Amino acid sequence: MASINIRRDVDDKFYRYKMPVLLTKIEGKGNGIKTVVPNMSDIARALARPPSYPTKFFGIELGAQVKLEEKSDRYIVSGAHDAARLRDLLDVFIDKFVLCGACKNPETVYNITKTDDVFRDCKACGARSAVDLRHKLTTYIIKNPPPVEKKIKGLKTGADSSIAANAEAINGKSSPAEPEDGADGQANAEVDESEIPDVADRPDDDDDWAVDVSPEAVKAREKALSAQLKNSLILGGQEGEGDGDDDDDADSPYGQLKAWIGESREEGLDEKKVMAKVKELGIEKKHKAVLVISEALFTEEVVKEIPTYSNLLKAMVTSEKHQKALLGGLERLVGLTYPSLIPAVPKILMAYYQEDILEEDVAKNWGTHVSKKYTDKETSKKVRKAAGAFLTWLDEADESDSE
Ligand SMILES: [Zn+2]
Repeated sequence: MASINIRRDVDDKFYRYKMPVLLTKIEGKGNGIKTVVPNMSDIARALARPPSYPTKFFGIELGAQVKLEEKSDRYIVSGAHDAARLRDLLDVFIDKFVLCGACKNPETVYNITKTDDVFRDCKACGARSAVDLRHKLTTYIIKNPPPVEKKIKGLKTGADSSIAANAEAINGKSSPAEPEDGADGQANAEVDESEIPDVADRPDDDDDWAVDVSPEAVKAREKALSAQLKNSLILGGQEGEGDGDDDDDADSPYGQLKAWIGESREEGLDEKKVMAKVKELGIEKKHKAVLVISEALFTEEVVKEIPTYSNLLKAMVTSEKHQKALLGGLERLVGLTYPSLIPAVPKILMAYYQEDILEEDVAKNWGTHVSKKYTDKETSKKVRKAAGAFLTWLDEADESDSE
């Protein structure tokens, strides 16, 4: 079978990470027409993910129902979809849910925290990158975590003979039963999947599998999901406490800002564009908007990026509360998304300080108070510890001033 680079944007025939070319087969007709991906489990194995994840991803992106027949190794999406479209979607899945956010290597494993954050831990560079918590697949992954993760030793290249062992780890019998998606299954947030009988006990009644793909039905499913997502939103739930003035909805302006930043990055962002978007969303005065910007706008190049956004930040960071949000975003940026930046924390703080965005007193107060508001306690501590050199510098600058 033809095999291609897992990253199709890499044009190197010696690229280590290969996967089979996605194939499709249209079955049925009329209302029951569906697209089978006959080699989904081979692809999933190459990606070290359960086959249900890319299949679900297709369903979510296409607004279609999916059917996971693990026993007979059949992965099905309702409706007729051509192979090129699914291959493109697979690229998106790989980018969002497989590749390391820092080095783009596909050797990552999921790390699902107690607070239902999902990270990709990279085996190549050690970076930990968050997956998009607003994506519906993330909710699915949290509910259906990858089985026996520890046994997955990493990705296998095409010629590797230990694929079978890896496959067993991924598709192993210890995996939780995958409930079949009924007409209201996938998107119905109310379904407690543990109550659904094991799929193996069910007859394979393909013909009963009629899915309402009307726009109304798709909308209804999306609505149900967004209610469910409310609780897993990065800006929502526990983080929202004490901030009753803001709307922590999946559709909140903060969620929208974050999504917009992600989508617009490729075409290039600058402070004018970001300011226009923030104003359009009506959140230019909100401290949470600062949190989103300092967490989601900046990348590994944050030290260089801060000066290029200094006018935007100066306009938006107008109080101590705003500065705290700025630092909260920094905690997330270096603590969760780019752990390789931890040693750069003093430089980042210095950049904010030199641009007159961060005040000395606020920085000092932050540095001496560990908080669980933006990250877990351990990360919060780690980031503050890393800030030591900057805080010491502030103290010393104080002393020399007073002399
Ligand atoms: Zn990496």
